[in-house]
Amino acid sequence: MAGGRRRGGGGRRGGPRQHPGTPGTPGPASLPAPLSPAATPAQPNAGAAPKTGRSKKAPEEPAARAPDVDSLGFQAMDRNVPGLSHVILQKLNMKSYEDYKSAMDGRKSGSDFGIRTYFDMFQKMEDTFKFCVECKKLPDALPDPKSLRRCKRCQNVYYCGVACQRANWPLHKKFCKKLKLVALDRLVEWLIFTGDIPFPTDTWTKPAWDVKGWEDWFSMQEQLEEKLGAIVAGRYMTLLWANAGKPRPEDAELRESIRRLVTDFHSRPLTIGLGLRLFGIDPLTRPLTVHVVGASHVETLNTRLTDYDELTRMFPGHQGVEMVMVGVDVVDGPIMRPPLTTLAPRGKVYLSSYKGLYHDFWESHVETKLAAPPDLVVGFHPGFHACPDLLAGWLPTLLLLLGTIACPCSSPCTVSRS
Ligand SMILES: [Zn+2]
Ligand SMILES: [Zn+2]
Repeated sequence: MAGGRRRGGGGRRGGPRQHPGTPGTPGPASLPAPLSPAATPAQPNAGAAPKTGRSKKAPEEPAARAPDVDSLGFQAMDRNVPGLSHVILQKLNMKSYEDYKSAMDGRKSGSDFGIRTYFDMFQKMEDTFKFCVECKKLPDALPDPKSLRRCKRCQNVYYCGVACQRANWPLHKKFCKKLKLVALDRLVEWLIFTGDIPFPTDTWTKPAWDVKGWEDWFSMQEQLEEKLGAIVAGRYMTLLWANAGKPRPEDAELRESIRRLVTDFHSRPLTIGLGLRLFGIDPLTRPLTVHVVGASHVETLNTRLTDYDELTRMFPGHQGVEMVMVGVDVVDGPIMRPPLTTLAPRGKVYLSSYKGLYHDFWESHVETKLAAPPDLVVGFHPGFHACPDLLAGWLPTLLLLLGTIACPCSSPCTVSRS
């Protein structure tokens, strides 16, 4: 993005989450969220990886040899700012991407990397944004590393000097206002990890088809202002601004930021709900199974068992929905449990996972009836448009689905079975 990376602004794009009740120092899951490679722009999820033929894997072949898209996303930062991935590892006292990945998977704790205080955590996060967005120089490449100056308006991008700032302004001015919100959201996003966001939501008082946008959704939330107020006045919000190294914004700005992050949090379950409606699949008439294909840590890092419960509030009285996250980059956690062999429990959203390729999952679980065939298959940001290689990677999955499931739309369509 012009004028600066937008690594964390999308809200809950990966990043370890800290749960309520975590003691006063950052625990294992408190690395800065925006450091997550998932949050690099335009990084598509891994689909099914290329696999030659449909034959079973040879025994010596390692399981699920997919391109490591998480790693590719991390390295891709260097194409924009040479050396940046190294700086990030250095700030976290990590030797390699492997260390980083371990931390993300929760296999190593934050304190293993020298992050001992909240202040430290927020500083290190900010440090990874310290490079000149015009000439791409990192602090080490400047005669005086302290000479980097931040855009006063957005506080999101840095310049090595006036010349670069001037040169960048025609482009940056188009995004400066938005980037100010991005800079705020990437700090407030931490409250998703502490559990403050999202606030408890209410059962929908309108039918799903009458909810056309977020304003409709917010209008169904009772005592919304009180709920937002409680987050703004909360312990973690106070802790955040005591350590962020930036002045605390007005409460009204914080409320807006919370609203944006709440919409980001719920966008995945609601997208699935919209998909069910568009394809005429009614959760009130029978239990459903949804497969999320190409799930990576974007969808699964620190995912709680309740994270898709908004579907229950969207379709009160539904017959049960099982969501199976399938992908080689599925992160271990509470949702790493086998798919149900029985129907999803009535009125509940049940999350399960399979770490591996979709067609392997199909062979080992669906064909053997260890998992239910899907009513809906969803891929978030599959990246077909971005990269032909990724499309090729998805091809086995698409062909499998085309051969198995008839497209429910009645008009001639490119996803039809023929
Ligand atoms: Zn510069
Ligand atoms: Zn700016």
